[in-house]
Amino acid sequence: MTQKRILLKSGKERSILQRHPWVFSGAIASVSGDPQPGETVEICSAGGERLGWAAYSPHSSIRARIWSFDPDEVIDAEFFIRKIQAAAYLRHLLALTAETNAYRLIHGEADGIPGLVVDLYPETAVVQILSAGAEYWREVIVDLIQQITGCKAVVERSDVEIRQLEGLPIREGVIRGGEIPGLLKIEENGIHYWVDVVGGQKTGFYLDQRQNRKRLTQFARDREVLNAFCYTGGFTLSAMAGGAKSVLSIDSSAAALRLAAKNLELNGFDSTRNEWLEGNVFHELRLLRDRNKKFDLIVLDPPKFAPTSAQAQKAARAYKDINLLGFKLLRKGGILFTFSCSGGIGRELFQKIVADAALDAGVEARIVEVLSQSGDHPVALNFPESAYLKGLICIVG
Ligand code: SAH
Repeated sequence: MTQKRILLKSGKERSILQRHPWVFSGAIASVSGDPQPGETVEICSAGGERLGWAAYSPHSSIRARIWSFDPDEVIDAEFFIRKIQAAAYLRHLLALTAETNAYRLIHGEADGIPGLVVDLYPETAVVQILSAGAEYWREVIVDLIQQITGCKAVVERSDVEIRQLEGLPIREGVIRGGEIPGLLKIEENGIHYWVDVVGGQKTGFYLDQRQNRKRLTQFARDREVLNAFCYTGGFTLSAMAGGAKSVLSIDSSAAALRLAAKNLELNGFDSTRNEWLEGNVFHELRLLRDRNKKFDLIVLDPPKFAPTSAQAQKAARAYKDINLLGFKLLRKGGILFTFSCSGGIGRELFQKIVADAALDAGVEARIVEVLSQSGDHPVALNFPESAYLKGLICIVG
């Protein structure tokens, strides 16, 4: 049998020697052995040096994703056991159970398993399979996740657009463990939430914002809070737990707001201190500005406006727009928690956009804290793309 192999163009081994796990189509001189989607191929430099093993992805411009930079490693079930155990150990070191019973177990490339995301909820794992390679090993991976974590059910949420770039169909639903309750209850930083792992956004909950929700609690006392893009109320309930005077929460998703209201009730918070508003944040913030409404604390946690750098320019305008309105709606001494989860917008650019927004709003503001994704969404130093969530706490002078 001929070895399935990718031969790189001359000089294109550089990023791989730096342990970046992506091989772009433009770096490839030839593919031999007729690998099928997701099959393991050996990666070789133009000079014939063996660089490691990767999953072949014929439909994506990321033509191969490296499983291992060790030419002697064997990619088999044992390999995935080692990777999943290493990821579990990292989470163990983070002592997450002290603050939550829902966290990310596998963060794709950053945990050495390109294209695989696994979030763990009580008794339930939610998997997203985002690359041809992870798809090829799907059965093995799902079995191992169940064995290693001891979860009863596994839900698949392979329903994101990037699967199409990999030529993979959308797939979702409970794939192990039969029926699961409609909603799962989690506890994070002492606050309870209902999570819809089957029908909710992402895998049901924005676990990456856990530490930032906690931080907000510490700023909320006696403040009038605006939570824009509130989803199921994460920052809203955190503000309530911190003693906020009032919270106005906006989201365009009626389903998210219904669950948010249930969450408020679940925690026994005073619903007269909170208002849910279904609407478009861009529009609603303008209306609030026109009514001269002011807040003491504003959270802006929009969806991913720029998944890749190709959409960065358009996204920059959207970020600028909401941040400008945010600054205008703050009282003197007011605090802005502002975020971007767009891979296509770097930290430096994000800060520049927020600075431009403050300038145009005619306010002076200072960054008092820099925020990022929680540690169960680690950033691999060899894969800077894994740092996607950027946040700033700014105080208006
Ligand atoms: N902060 C939340 C997560 C926010 S996710 C948490 O901690 O859980 C982004 C949210 O923005 C989603 O709920 C989505 O429904 C909402 N959204 C997207 N575009 C919107 C728009 N233009 N106006 C209002 N909400 C929007």
